[in-house]
Amino acid sequence: MAKTIKWSQGNVKLPDRVIHMSLPSGYTCPMALKCLCKANANTGKITDGPHQEYRCYAAMQEARHKGLREQRWNNYIALKKLSIDDMYLLLQTSLHNIHEKYTANHGQRPLVRAHIGGDFFNENYFNAWLKLAKHYEPTQFYAYTKRTDLWVDKCKSIPDNFELNASRGGKRDDLIDTYNLKCAEVVLSKQEAINKNLELDHDDSHAYQPGPSFAQLIHGCQKAGSKASKALSKLKKDEGYTGYNSNTKTMSQRNRNILLYSKHLKPKTRTI
Ligand code: SF4
Repeated sequence: MAKTIKWSQGNVKLPDRVIHMSLPSGYTCPMALKCLCKANANTGKITDGPHQEYRCYAAMQEARHKGLREQRWNNYIALKKLSIDDMYLLLQTSLHNIHEKYTANHGQRPLVRAHIGGDFFNENYFNAWLKLAKHYEPTQFYAYTKRTDLWVDKCKSIPDNFELNASRGGKRDDLIDTYNLKCAEVVLSKQEAINKNLELDHDDSHAYQPGPSFAQLIHGCQKAGSKASKALSKLKKDEGYTGYNSNTKTMSQRNRNILLYSKHLKPKTRTI
């Protein structure tokens, strides 16, 4: 199989300014715990993790869309056995054209997100991303990750243009509190976010900019009868909230916000 990485632009939640690549959800997430589920590579059949509290949105995408599943597996197969340098090279060369095209056509740099699905599956791969972000400075990179272990280990090597967000619900959440890492937390209601004193993010703007920890409202297709599924039903009944799809009412506002976002980001304050 030819070694290529497929990058994508935007999705139902994000505008085209966000360029991203993904890996198979769950299979590449060694620290996933409360979110863990996996779509079978061939059939798309979902297997839920033993400690799951809510289903991974990206895994459910893979369950529904064969093409997307194949794309993510192809990316993983192309990368997984490479050295750091070769991983970096593959990421860098495959990103080049889409990055340059966006910049030329829009008069501003894109935002690059590591993964809608998947995570930093090993240390070499994490290091390759640090190198990638450094190469593309000052383009803003960002990621949600449960690899708080790698983040803490490599904290002095993370370039200023790479905004990491610890995704709560992983095996090493203890490191979030110990090192006061900026984090994102899934909540089941707006009230839960208020109680935890967290702003709700709907467009990744809290993720790609430096700032405080934040919350994300439960979304995606949840397991029937689960707490997450009941919370989604209540949100739909009470507020008409259906998660993120092409009809989401706030979509145009979210896109406007992200397009207004300055090329020159605020100075970064690291918490570690
Ligand atoms: S770590 Fe992220 S991508 Fe992996 S299973 Fe959990 S939510 Fe999905």
